[in-house]
Amino acid sequence: MKLTKNLKKQSTNNPDATYYPKGELVIVKDYLTGSKELKLAWKFTISSLEPFNEQWIYIDATDGEVVGDTPLLLDANTSGNAETLYSGTVGITCDSHSGSYRLYETRTSTPNHSVNIHTWNCLSQPNLPNAIEFTNSNTNWTTGSWPAISQDQAALDAHWAEEKALDYWSTVHSRNSLDNQGLPITGYVHFYDPNDTITWPNNAKWDPTDHVILYGDGDGGTHFYPLVALDVVAHEMGHGITQFTANLTPGYQESGALNEGFSDIWGVCVEDWATSSKQTWLMGVITIQECKFVPVIIILMLHLMVVMPVLQHGPSPGVLHTLLV
Ligand SMILES: [Zn+2]
Repeated sequence: MKLTKNLKKQSTNNPDATYYPKGELVIVKDYLTGSKELKLAWKFTISSLEPFNEQWIYIDATDGEVVGDTPLLLDANTSGNAETLYSGTVGITCDSHSGSYRLYETRTSTPNHSVNIHTWNCLSQPNLPNAIEFTNSNTNWTTGSWPAISQDQAALDAHWAEEKALDYWSTVHSRNSLDNQGLPITGYVHFYDPNDTITWPNNAKWDPTDHVILYGDGDGGTHFYPLVALDVVAHEMGHGITQFTANLTPGYQESGALNEGFSDIWGVCVEDWATSSKQTWLMGVITIQECKFVPVIIILMLHLMVVMPVLQHGPSPGVLHTLLV
């Protein structure tokens, strides 16, 4: 602070220059109570590094009460470090927001590929509007720097994987998000539906109605850990690709089998492209503690379900093209 004060004195050529807040008398409404009454207030510019924030604060000149504030920092992409469950410490893009950081990225660097990526905390319940932001006071989403890491670490895997999958679709296929029209990528970590305990918490799902991704927490490793591994996330986003291209009916006979098979293929394609050294050609293996042969069986069955209809009815050019991409 002493150094910056000296710089301020030098840059302004004013020996009395200081960062100490200087008030300005203004007339304002009482924003915090919603009253239309006008008040005489002192206006101060208050800045902080942690949390990174800057606001105008209005103080009632007669009684010292805070009557309003105006955020001055617009939301902005910021580079961060994320200590993930499955992929070590990786670089992510987060967003300065209301005095803290959240798992949100705005992509505008390529004009035709403008996509937002937003990872929410669903709070172990099924109503998406009730979800809240994952927030951190700094950009190091790591042990010691992010107090919530012990319960929310899976969110970092999901957010990073959503970024990588989108990188793959943009870079390799020049595709503007899942629908090729900039569909926002929205993920809900800690999703849980108590009325569907067959599916949850041991699952992840593409929601074809809301066009969002739901991630279960798993059951603590009895069967699954949180279902947020890179290939799992890319698999679910692959369902979005299928919906907006072939629109194969999910869960229904041959179309459902093809739908799942293609998502498996996209899952391993993204994993191989982003982290080739980790490629196992198995789906979701890292989220499973026991019974390591299960994912082998799963992927073989799903791929068999892709191949069998083709063998029965003959391949269509579209199917062959997709299989070879
Ligand atoms: Zn699937």
